[in-house]
Amino acid sequence: MPNSSKYTRVLRFVTHYWLMFPALFGTLVVARIASTLVDVSIPLASGSVVDAVASGVREDPAPAMWALAVFVGLGALFALSRQVVSFLLNRLSAAAMVAIGRDAFAKVQRFSADWHANAFAGSTVRKITRGMTSYDTFTDTVAFGLLPAFIVVVGVCGVFWWRWPLLGFIVAVSIVVFLAVTIALSVLYVRPANVEAREWDSKMSGALADSITGNQAVKSFAAEAREDAMFQHVAGNWQWRAVRSWDRSVISGIVQSLMLIALQAAMLSIGVLLWSRGDASPGDVASLIATQFLINGYLRDIGQHVRTVQRTVNDMDDVLEFRDAHFQVADTPAAKPLEVTQGRIAFERVTFKYKGASEALYEDFSLVIPAGQRVGLVGHSGAGKSTFVKLIQRLYDVQEGRILIDGQDVAQVTQESLRRAVGLVPQEPILFHRTLADNIAYARPDAAKQEIEEAARLAHVDLFVRGLSKGYDTMVGERGVKLSGGERQRVAIARAILARTPILVLDEATSSLDSVSELYIREAIERLSAGRTTLVVAHRLSTIQRLDRILVFDGGKIVEDGAHADLMRKPGGVYRKLLETQLQAGVIVEAAE
Ligand code: ADP
Repeated sequence: MPNSSKYTRVLRFVTHYWLMFPALFGTLVVARIASTLVDVSIPLASGSVVDAVASGVREDPAPAMWALAVFVGLGALFALSRQVVSFLLNRLSAAAMVAIGRDAFAKVQRFSADWHANAFAGSTVRKITRGMTSYDTFTDTVAFGLLPAFIVVVGVCGVFWWRWPLLGFIVAVSIVVFLAVTIALSVLYVRPANVEAREWDSKMSGALADSITGNQAVKSFAAEAREDAMFQHVAGNWQWRAVRSWDRSVISGIVQSLMLIALQAAMLSIGVLLWSRGDASPGDVASLIATQFLINGYLRDIGQHVRTVQRTVNDMDDVLEFRDAHFQVADTPAAKPLEVTQGRIAFERVTFKYKGASEALYEDFSLVIPAGQRVGLVGHSGAGKSTFVKLIQRLYDVQEGRILIDGQDVAQVTQESLRRAVGLVPQEPILFHRTLADNIAYARPDAAKQEIEEAARLAHVDLFVRGLSKGYDTMVGERGVKLSGGERQRVAIARAILARTPILVLDEATSSLDSVSELYIREAIERLSAGRTTLVVAHRLSTIQRLDRILVFDGGKIVEDGAHADLMRKPGGVYRKLLETQLQAGVIVEAAE
């Protein structure tokens, strides 16, 4: 993307959040301008003190005292008003950062399952948090660096122009030259070196992290010395780049100082010249000196500010990526809530192809699952079982055909209502680092304690909770409470029991469970599925023999369809062979009834 449009995009983004709090922002701008103007007037006040002293008489110090009082008063006003700006900015920044984080989080949460599967969670988190802090740094830099510098330059030039046009002209031209040189140095000379040094800085942390997390492998191959050398190499690469980037900052600082000294010399020579001609009083010369210090203070860090703006604009641009992205799976404008009365599911001539896949997984695929039927999905890995249930939840959009739940197209109802109607017990349930009770109640946060415990009992979660000193208040992930695969599945089943959805999808854990866990889970599933349309993606065939119907998938097609007993009667049938293979391999121990 061209740089200029990136800057406009970021500027629009920042302005949007500034204007979200109009009263605060407006007061802040007015206060900042006022406080800087006060600062600009201080050198003039110092000039009046000098004039009052120079032209006054010792017997009557009142005019000098008055001038001094104004000078000190302005100083105090400036110091206070500057802090008022800080107070306002604290509030604006915190509020806007919350809004930025909230908006980005809300958007990212609603991105499709596919998007999340392809994005690194860590990097998404970093982009959001960095976007928030970059906004803060950017606003600070504008409020305390660029805006006041601009006002000072305009104010000083304006005052000079009015009093001594020649001086005003020379100062204005010098400042323009100073700014042009400073910005050019900053952008073209200092920043590229900074960027490179920062890249190697990240590489250094990356290398450290990689080595330290892989310490087990390092130890077992006695490779410590090799890793030391690797770090030395990366750090060496960083070292000279860091020195170069710091040196360039120093050099650019020297150039800036020389320019400011030249400006000082020019201003003061002209001041003395004006004085010698009788066009300036001693006080004017004094205020010129003071103005010189003022300009110096505001312009000294301009190069740094420009680089900060560049860096923060780049960092904020990452958050804009989320903001401007369209939802991959979006509700239609006319989407209505799904109303499940019975739970009948129908695939009508569905064609579906994964993005990037060479051919369609499902082609002209039709199937009806009557309300309340309990169906096992079976087949080799990659046959399309999980995709089948993902399509029912509309985690992906199909290219052709329709998927209907009680006659309503899943693509035409709101995603929220659809996902609320379909309960899911996934293969690898995700538990949050919250209490066990919170985890179970995730489907229904308003569930009463008794309901949570009842669900836990039905899912046999209570059996292992009894062994925990804090019971249901134990934080999952706290030391010692790392749940086993079977226990996590039981928590997920308890969640599904609480959710009471009319349609249920169970993706059986692929990792082998101990036989006790398996028995508990099988029992819990039986209870849970009673009276609901239930789909069980089965990897071990022992869990599904009692279901009403078994669908055998192969390459996106259903190759066998029937009850366990019917399928077993087919000599050479796919299901029968799968079952026999699992029996032989010891994956399951129980044969057909
Ligand atoms: P199963 O659940 O039967 O093991 P899946 O439904 O997960 O099978 O996968 C069916 C096919 O689709 C496989 O070939 C798999 O590689 C492919 N597939 C699954 N998920 C994706 C995805 N997100 N992007 C591209 N291809 C995918």
